[in-house]
Amino acid sequence: MEETIKKRIAIFGSTGSIGKQALEVIEANPELFSVEILAAHQNDELLIKQAIKFKPNIVVIGAEQKYQKVKEALSPHHIKVFAGEAALEETAGMDCYDLMIAAIVGFAGLKPTLRAIEEGKTIGLANKETLVVAGDIVMKKAVEFRAPIIPVDSEHSAIFQCLVGEIRNPVEKVILTASGGPFLGRKPNFLVNVKRDHALQHPNWSMGPKISIDSATLMNKGLEMIEAKWLFNLEPSQVEVVIHPQSIIHSMVQFEDGSIKAQMGLPDMKLPIQYAMSFPQRLPNNFPRYNFLKPDSLSFEEPDIKTFRNLYLAQEALSKGGNLPCVLNAANEIAVYAFLRNRVGFLDMTDIIEKTMSEIKYLEHPDLEDYYNSDAEAREYAASLINL
Ligand code: NAD
Ligand code: MG
Repeated sequence: MEETIKKRIAIFGSTGSIGKQALEVIEANPELFSVEILAAHQNDELLIKQAIKFKPNIVVIGAEQKYQKVKEALSPHHIKVFAGEAALEETAGMDCYDLMIAAIVGFAGLKPTLRAIEEGKTIGLANKETLVVAGDIVMKKAVEFRAPIIPVDSEHSAIFQCLVGEIRNPVEKVILTASGGPFLGRKPNFLVNVKRDHALQHPNWSMGPKISIDSATLMNKGLEMIEAKWLFNLEPSQVEVVIHPQSIIHSMVQFEDGSIKAQMGLPDMKLPIQYAMSFPQRLPNNFPRYNFLKPDSLSFEEPDIKTFRNLYLAQEALSKGGNLPCVLNAANEIAVYAFLRNRVGFLDMTDIIEKTMSEIKYLEHPDLEDYYNSDAEAREYAASLINL
């Protein structure tokens, strides 16, 4: 029998929504994948459980105060344990793995992902903020170090899948689909009173808290427009958004002859995660299939950027470029976490982001250090607008 060499996987953000689903994919395909590194921030109990089950070489816990507990639990299992931000970056540079699932949420994912790219690892990229903050640098380094970046975000995975076999064919535009989130069709007089728990209820996807709020404000789609620009080397005018509430078409590519390719299926993040891990192969699975004869018609509409102004602000950041997407992202992270702690209202998030974007000095050609500084300045300013 032919021996397959297992792909060795590192999951950064293993205790989150994407991380847990990546482990489910690995569990279903033990002959193809092994887990070498598990990294997470706070959730020591789940991280310990995952480590005992999947037996990685290395575990990293971001929160240093949890180090002793994790170390004591895992030393009988001969698993090395590290802690802290620097350890995330160091382990991302280690030889023991081939493919990183970059599933940390927010700006925190940038440094470990850059380190993995510098080692020429394959990146299954869920952490869209990495590209929003420093997309030019990330993509340049990926070319320089020959590190393939395979999108995990379902829209970008869809576009990536549509582009397979089309290397010589220029793209006219990409069309990102958006479900519209839980408040589709609502107006500001409704949104002003929206509370955290309602905003966390997404109609089609179950996701981590930050991206769930971003989906409710449509900021998620704005971040994804910026992500698409960098991943597929597009001009801002080549990235469009259409609301498609059923989330069956995951996104589309229109070519120069007017032909449009779409990637479709029932919404399930395990599919794009699995595709990023097995590319260029497709793996069989028994996930439920979409049935065209079910009386559920597919519909499309324009996004309401007058109501969902976060999407408008992200479009502005996309077209102006420079450090503006980085500033937008930082202010958004501060605003979303403040909303999740009931410190600001739903519409206040937009004001915080808009004010921060006009306050922080615009830099047309930032380097990596400039991005780190813009991120820090924007966070500080955005936080100063909130009574924390
Ligand atoms: P989540 O909140 O469920 O999980 C986040 C993970 O990151 C956790 O394991 C947490 O421990 C880890 N983490 C957070 N801060 C960290 C830090 N400072 N250091 C180390 N680890 C840290 O988030 P999620 O929904 O799984 O999303 C992860 C990323 O994937 C986000 O960038 C999100 O935009 C993207 N994404 C998620 C989905 C989805 O369906 N959940 C879909 C598309 C893209
Ligand atoms: Mg998405």
